[in-house]
Amino acid sequence: MNDKYFTFDRLNNNSEIIHLYTKKDLDFSLNNVGEEGRKKLISKIEQDFNFRFKNIKYPIQTHTNKVCVLTEQNINNDFNEVDGLITNLKNVALITQSADCQSILLYDPVNKVIGNIHSGWKGTLNKIIVNAINLMKSEYNCNPVNIEAYICPSIMNCCFEVDKDLVDSFKENFSDVDEFITLGDMKEGKQKYYIDTIELNKKVLTDLGFKKENIFSSNICTKCYHDTFHSYRYDGTSSGRNIALICLK
Ligand SMILES: [Zn+2]
Repeated sequence: MNDKYFTFDRLNNNSEIIHLYTKKDLDFSLNNVGEEGRKKLISKIEQDFNFRFKNIKYPIQTHTNKVCVLTEQNINNDFNEVDGLITNLKNVALITQSADCQSILLYDPVNKVIGNIHSGWKGTLNKIIVNAINLMKSEYNCNPVNIEAYICPSIMNCCFEVDKDLVDSFKENFSDVDEFITLGDMKEGKQKYYIDTIELNKKVLTDLGFKKENIFSSNICTKCYHDTFHSYRYDGTSSGRNIALICLK
């Protein structure tokens, strides 16, 4: 990891992709930095990566499972209540923001298609990654066997402590989720649990036809590494936002 960005080695070695996940010094939270701060952050990234994006697109995320296809026709639209974008347009930076949620970068090197998906627990529960892959298949004829997935730093099993009602929701939506749930402590008379949403999303991707060796995760927990990354569970409501960015050159 360099001092400002986390990146994946495999994508660093790819000359047709720019990608990054920002660290704590950089903040994309509209509440904290405003539109001006966001613009500054983008120009900092452009300087650091020595690249000028033709367009920068980020959906207005609301923890939905909705993914949109970005085309020449709709590129100037706002994407409200959308939590992921996919495209084959070049020089367009796709951004998602998070603080503990998973940003999942997708890349099909065969069909030259990229995606950036925000999958917090709600998105994971409602299978946003399935919607993303189905769109890549239907819109761009992508084959999951070729697609690479990169799960950026996010809250991991060690820190994702939840109550029984959430465990029940996951059991309702997934037939075989038990292996990803572990028993936690009793707290104030309530049984706590841990859900491994990263391993769960990896399983969903392999079920969709991904090769195991094409699924990468950072293995960095944003709450454990709250000094390095914004963490909602650690920093609370004033938490900043890290961004994940991917762009096809
Ligand atoms: Zn942790």
